[in-house]
Amino acid sequence: MGAGALENDIQFLPGAGPRRADLLKKELGVSTFGDLVRLYPYRYIDRSSVIRIADAVPDMAHIQIRAKVMSRELYGTAGPVFQDIPVLPGTGGETASGIGGTAQTAGQGNGDGSRQQEIRFNAVKRMKVTVSDGSGMMELVFFKGIKWIYGKLEPGKEFIFFGKPSVFNGRLNMVHPEVDNVQDYAVSTGTGIKAGFITAGTMTGVYASTEKLRNAGITGKLMNRLQAAALNAVLPDVRESLPEYILKEKKLVPIHFALRNIHFPADQESLAKARYRLKFEELFYLQLSLLKQKYIRSRNENGIMMPKVGEYFNLCYGALPFPLTGAQKRVIREIRDDMKSGHQMNRLLQGDVGSGKTMVAVLTSLIAAGNGYQACIMAPTEVLAQQHFKNISRYLAPTGVKVALLTGSSRTAERREIHAGLEDGSIGIIVGTHALLEDNVVFRNLGLAVIDEQHRFGVEQRSRLWQKSSCGRPPHVLVMTATPIPRTLAMTLYGDLDVSVIDELPPGRKPILTMHATESRRPALFKFMKEQIALGRQIFVVYPLIFESEKTDYKNLEMGFEQIVQAFPFPPYKTAIVHGKQSNEDKKFNMDAFAAGRANILVATSVIEVGVDVPNASVMVIESAERFGLSQLHQLRGRVGRGSEKSYCVLMTGHRISKESKHRIELMCATENGFELAEEDMKMRGPGDLEGTQQSGLPVNLNIASLARDGILLNEARQYAESVLKDDPTLSSDRNAILREELRKEKYRIRDYSKIS
Ligand code: ADP
Ligand code: MG
Repeated sequence: MGAGALENDIQFLPGAGPRRADLLKKELGVSTFGDLVRLYPYRYIDRSSVIRIADAVPDMAHIQIRAKVMSRELYGTAGPVFQDIPVLPGTGGETASGIGGTAQTAGQGNGDGSRQQEIRFNAVKRMKVTVSDGSGMMELVFFKGIKWIYGKLEPGKEFIFFGKPSVFNGRLNMVHPEVDNVQDYAVSTGTGIKAGFITAGTMTGVYASTEKLRNAGITGKLMNRLQAAALNAVLPDVRESLPEYILKEKKLVPIHFALRNIHFPADQESLAKARYRLKFEELFYLQLSLLKQKYIRSRNENGIMMPKVGEYFNLCYGALPFPLTGAQKRVIREIRDDMKSGHQMNRLLQGDVGSGKTMVAVLTSLIAAGNGYQACIMAPTEVLAQQHFKNISRYLAPTGVKVALLTGSSRTAERREIHAGLEDGSIGIIVGTHALLEDNVVFRNLGLAVIDEQHRFGVEQRSRLWQKSSCGRPPHVLVMTATPIPRTLAMTLYGDLDVSVIDELPPGRKPILTMHATESRRPALFKFMKEQIALGRQIFVVYPLIFESEKTDYKNLEMGFEQIVQAFPFPPYKTAIVHGKQSNEDKKFNMDAFAAGRANILVATSVIEVGVDVPNASVMVIESAERFGLSQLHQLRGRVGRGSEKSYCVLMTGHRISKESKHRIELMCATENGFELAEEDMKMRGPGDLEGTQQSGLPVNLNIASLARDGILLNEARQYAESVLKDDPTLSSDRNAILREELRKEKYRIRDYSKIS
């Protein structure tokens, strides 16, 4: 039991090895024994009970039966190739005979060996096994590994079968059930964790998996075995991570019990206890870290003081082509109060797509400028930064404040000039991408950082920006996101951030008509697109680009582009395409062509277009819409409906889509309200899923608790964290030593947006 078993590389776990270890790292982020035991099952298969065949009904999830093999039938493509003579229930006899095909009668008893040689298993496509438990009969069907299973399932022998029941030709069957020997099943393993015997007779954990993992032989069974081995190795090194008094007060089970039972539950009750403890712990530490930061920040008086609104703000405000919405005004007031408070602002601005966040960013930047400070506005992509720059320049024209654009494709000479301007303070507002984070970018006195679509930025990148202010104090921070997180959730979740919401769209927006269509409707879709183009409108066609299947996605995009070009030939039609593999010049050229109205159609991947503003675009076609999450679909749809024309969103899907996809599509067709969709999304997938994805924008990575399902526990954990901090704000008492230590861990460090280092 070496002191560092927790840190052991996963490749040294029996059954893993270097190749699988590599995949576990890449696919699941599991590198060490310790990581593995913190990867919890997302569901369990309850194998603690056996039911009677007579009681089985087809819509049960998974069932387990204990039954005797009656007969086996083998089928080739041309029909049956072998059939046992059925064993009569209760006789235990084992006679068998071949009919047709290649199999011959092979005497009786253990004739299987010789018979197996006679059967040409290569020609066998399917095996049907009839089993009985006295209460009824069931058919088991196998398509793969038939030779081996055939050998195992000798007529007359009894096994435990585990699988999902269904109905075929009016008869109850199970396809590819798991097969276990009756004697293995008898080994109870709830507390013993004996590798090798953990599949039967108990509840089995099911872990997240991917196709790559499965292809590498990392099956559910192997995961169970790996977990058992890892647990045995690390448990002696796992120390209790909550103070004794908290375990007592909250009636929580010790960490060893929790870890053992989360992977190998002795029974339902132990599992519930294990779960409760781990969830509470996770939410408690999350809240404790957030509240502690907030506490520190509220005592911190070194925020940059910006007492006045300033002339620039007023000049811009007076020249706006439209009145601000009530929500915009309210949010600006909230921001303004922060900036003059003497505390550092740390604010999250949420607003649905098209709600006018850019305007808020501009006016906020001008407050900074009016107080003699610089501001930077960071966007996640080059295209977005360019567009921001264009719009912002327009708004700034009446103020005379100098604004510049810095991106990866800025030329060297230009770059040098911008660096100089930032250093000497002549540039008041800088718009840019990650390029702003490079070491040679130095500000004279950065007073405000606005981050648009924050989820695209890593935490590290953010903190690098804070270091750039040479005035020695942290800039005010405004993080803008269009991912609508339900307000109550945002408050709890972002604990140390203040939250502002723009909950009102600028007036005059016409509703977007959202429709669902399948491939057979494509001719009609193209006809509709042509009508819209004839009316002078422009059209987005978006393809999914998902990291895992990037290659095929790019192929689909190219094929889609070809198809469009054929259906919309030049002249008179012009189609532009934008995707991540193009050079920046090509991207810009194509984007500009579309934005300026020179192209009628823009074909793009989902990665590129977020935030692009082309008011004349009135149709958004989303291809393979079933592959997008709700919030992504909603973001994409928000690209149209910005002008005064009636707008449309067409969701193209395959004919057969999953129930969840169908539900998503229906919701999209039913409502345009981003917050409503976000709530639904959360209910459907749980924010646990949201967090894992890029679109989430959530700063936490919850392992076991779910913000959607564990709301009550979250509140409880927060209240408890508050009471702990109230008694001991710096957590310096002896009894809180464990808390102090835990919060020092990396994962609790990263949530402070205002962090300087
Ligand atoms: P988002 O919140 O998605 O970033 P934008 O800031 O891009 O939204 O604004 C969307 C569009 O609405 C822009 O064309 C912008 O000029 C316009 N807009 C912003 N505020 C108002 C307003 N108060 N009245 C009318 N139009 C507005
Ligand atoms: Mg925007």
